[in-house]
Amino acid sequence: MSRRDYSIRQIMEMEACTQCRLCADVCPAVAASRDGMLSALTRIKGLKKVLRSRTGIWQRLFGRKAPTAEEWQQFSSEVFRCTLCANCQEVCPVGIGLKDLWLALRRDLVRTGHYPKKIELIRENLAESRNVFAEANDERADWVGDMRGAPEHGYLKERAEVVYFTGCVAAYFPVAQKIPMAFAEILDASGVDFTLLGEDEWCCGFPLLGAGIEGMLETFVTHNLEAVRRRGAHSVVFSCPSCYQIWREHYPHEFKISHASQFLSHLVREGRVPLKELPLTVTYHDPCDLGRGARVFDEPRELIRAIPGVTLVELPHHRENCQCCGGGGNLEMIDAELSAAVAARKMEEVVSTGAQAVVTTCQQCVRTMTTYAKRNKVPVEVMDLTQLVQKALKR
Ligand code: SF4
Ligand code: SF4
Repeated sequence: MSRRDYSIRQIMEMEACTQCRLCADVCPAVAASRDGMLSALTRIKGLKKVLRSRTGIWQRLFGRKAPTAEEWQQFSSEVFRCTLCANCQEVCPVGIGLKDLWLALRRDLVRTGHYPKKIELIRENLAESRNVFAEANDERADWVGDMRGAPEHGYLKERAEVVYFTGCVAAYFPVAQKIPMAFAEILDASGVDFTLLGEDEWCCGFPLLGAGIEGMLETFVTHNLEAVRRRGAHSVVFSCPSCYQIWREHYPHEFKISHASQFLSHLVREGRVPLKELPLTVTYHDPCDLGRGARVFDEPRELIRAIPGVTLVELPHHRENCQCCGGGGNLEMIDAELSAAVAARKMEEVVSTGAQAVVTTCQQCVRTMTTYAKRNKVPVEVMDLTQLVQKALKR
């Protein structure tokens, strides 16, 4: 493990940790596993120890030893059993940039060969198939074929004002495909000139960041930007918060970008979405990457409240304190049991609100919560905000 992955600022921030444990108190992985070793506090201690063991002067003065193979394995397993939800960062009183630190640490572990081998799957799938699930990339827009009333062009136009970038999960998972179907129907009903990229859409690259894989992102960024340019679009819209986040933070700012909740909220304000009464009590789950990550808290709530008949009740932990659903940070792939345990705690909160449905704005949250609700017969409907708007669409 080398120091080159960490900025001077990050090294200084680690030294500023007061060991207050606030990060451990809000960590969904710690709560679900009852294992304090998964907390930010313990991880910082581990990282400091490792860095010191690698620094010449400490070695010479104190003879600090590098970790053994077993210690590496243990440390790496703790690092990757994290949803990257950034709840720890949100509460840290000294303002340590913990999420970036976790990403740097993952890069470091991958480069030095101390990582769960499942990470290789992400690298291979993206290199070979251009999507994270090793599906045929020319089937990305096949879900359009399951839509009633889809136009002949199948939303694959040569030119359009807006590109709807669907993301890998929504393109391939049947439960998540309902989201692009709903969004496309609403955009159509609102008279938006939009197109999909179809097989020209490649993974946005977000899974590479979470997996700590370096050197591949640029290929995906370059390809996707060129695909949007060819359509002559001025805007790109995302129903996936992770795609939105990586385009915000790692793509050149060439196009106007927005998340579906922001885009729809704007359309509703302009009176372009025909809505009917929908009597339903819902609660709203802030996806980590959209809420804490992009600070988009208000637009989804505005949109929910704009639907006549819909009542919003807040979760006990909401907005910046919202608890992760268990679907982030590639955790499902690394430790499916822990991911399900985090989802269980989330669904307990949802049930406590008495809402008939939990609405979110992320296909991965929909997938994680739906899977848990179905397996455990939780009597609450799980849906994306686009699906809620679709239900209220006046046809
Ligand atoms: S919240 Fe911040 S200062 Fe407190 S223990 Fe965690 S990392 Fe350290
Ligand atoms: S990012 Fe979330 S899961 Fe990971 S250590 Fe922080 S609070 Fe825990």
